[in-house]
Amino acid sequence: MKVLNLHSVALGLLGSLISLATVGTLSAEAANVTAWQFNPGGNRLEFTTDTAVQPRAQWLVDTSQLVIDLPGTETRYAIQNFNGVIHTVEVTQYDTLTTRITVELAPGYSLNPQQIQFQSVSPTQWVVQLPEPVPQAAENRVPAPVSGDLATLQAIAFSPDGRQLLIQSDRPVTSSGQWRNGQYQILIPDARLARGLTSIPLPAEGSVLQARLRQSAQGVTLSLLPRTGIRFGVATQVSSQELAIAIESSSSQSGRTVAQTSNRSPARPVPQGRVVVAIDPGHGGRDPGAVGIDNIHESEVVLDVAQQVAQLLDQQGIQAVLTRNSDEEIDLQPRVDTAEQARANLFVSIHANALSMERPDANGVSTYYFSNSDLAQTLQDSAVAATGMNDRGIHAARFYVIRNTSMPSALIEIGFVTGAEDEPRLASPQWRTQMAGAIANGILQYVQRHSMTSNR
Ligand SMILES: [Zn+2]
Repeated sequence: MKVLNLHSVALGLLGSLISLATVGTLSAEAANVTAWQFNPGGNRLEFTTDTAVQPRAQWLVDTSQLVIDLPGTETRYAIQNFNGVIHTVEVTQYDTLTTRITVELAPGYSLNPQQIQFQSVSPTQWVVQLPEPVPQAAENRVPAPVSGDLATLQAIAFSPDGRQLLIQSDRPVTSSGQWRNGQYQILIPDARLARGLTSIPLPAEGSVLQARLRQSAQGVTLSLLPRTGIRFGVATQVSSQELAIAIESSSSQSGRTVAQTSNRSPARPVPQGRVVVAIDPGHGGRDPGAVGIDNIHESEVVLDVAQQVAQLLDQQGIQAVLTRNSDEEIDLQPRVDTAEQARANLFVSIHANALSMERPDANGVSTYYFSNSDLAQTLQDSAVAATGMNDRGIHAARFYVIRNTSMPSALIEIGFVTGAEDEPRLASPQWRTQMAGAIANGILQYVQRHSMTSNR
């Protein structure tokens, strides 16, 4: 699955938006998606919100869907059928604090996700320009259904070691997978369940907590509810009658381990009397965050910087708690929970920014706050002074982690992975150490200025 992640950055005005249908609801809590429109002729999606948002986008290769999540927003359900190469655009309340816009292509079509362009007319107005969809290569296409000619699934089971899901059928079948509401759904088109096949025994080691089978007009759907950190690989045809889907645990294959920080798990008990700072490296696991020049991944850069910040704080007698300490996928609420459970005095989220590859001119540091700008300003000043980077200033924003933590919080964007000046910095170990030092210094200044001495 190819993932693009795009962060909100104000660009110059692109001109006024064309008339938009209002679909928003009123709420004092979250931002609202006030309008959206898809122009099928121009392959152009536009949406507006009543306060700034940070869209996150993913391209789902398997299902030819562009999924755009708007964290911290509410909306009203809507779906529009276009019946062209763009099939539908659906707007849903994905979870209580996320609006999801899904653009689905017609079956048999795909597009180059590198050519999807996000442009922010302003922090509340966005234009998403899709390239022209193209017919998929024949070998990648799901075979057209032949009426009455369905494969029969004879057995579905997890392998004894729990590392594979095995699907046995009377003839070759294909499958496609997608995440939906925390469940992984595997569709096996043009297939039916053998008589008596109604359930899947769960794997002994607990990687999957729930498994359901459903037969529909499209075929058979398996809905799996995995334990946190579980990922599903692509399906491989083991034989003409067996399909295997790999099950991976991010804890068993963490991308990066740092010896001196490996004991700093979020569960570590917090000693009394020390200032506690939660450090939140953005993204991780299946979500690489922003992907930039030379395939640099935000999730990897910010983990490295965050681990160094934590180490520096520890050396200064401040208890640092990392919300993740490896290349693992963690939702936003568990990050908030980690900070709350540790009774952190401060919360600092570390991200890197991105714009399209066509905007190497966008570079620099910016910091976001929700209610109080003091911590953000301190971090921003420290980072700019230490690195000499372009100062993009501090801004109020409604990012989930800074909005839902009870302690003073800030989210720093340490540079642009798509920036011609910033990318070499983000890739450089020396620069990362420098930035980590600047963030740790900013935190220390804030702690000293506010005479913080112990846990709340
Ligand atoms: Zn990010």
